[in-house]
Amino acid sequence: MFEIFVEESFAAGHALRGYKGKCENVHGHNYRVRVTLEGETLDGVGLLYDFVHLKRVIQQVIRALDHRFLNEFPPFDSVNPSAENLAKYFYEQAAAQLPGVENGVRIASVTVWETDTTAATYRPSPPAR
Ligand SMILES: [Zn+2]
Repeated sequence: MFEIFVEESFAAGHALRGYKGKCENVHGHNYRVRVTLEGETLDGVGLLYDFVHLKRVIQQVIRALDHRFLNEFPPFDSVNPSAENLAKYFYEQAAAQLPGVENGVRIASVTVWETDTTAATYRPSPPAR
């Protein structure tokens, strides 16, 4: 099994609803996002997936969020913009946009860092066999 990942970063503000503590107030993060792909088979060049394409997909998702107040941006106007929910959002957006995923390549996980030492990972449930 091979894995590759690409990381990108963006800045955004958020406030956690229903949370008692510092994070209920409006504040910002320099978020980092890592999207990891996995698969068994390399292409003729020896790649699992082209980094350039994966980077483009992540940047496209980021474009909508960068320098925004996440609480005003759907689905985060109703879903809390926690690192966990952001990771799931990135997974869903990237999965919908990944062009030409073949050879059984799939998104293994998405990790979103709020700070250098705090992060959340979303991993889809394995397909039922
Ligand atoms: Zn925060």
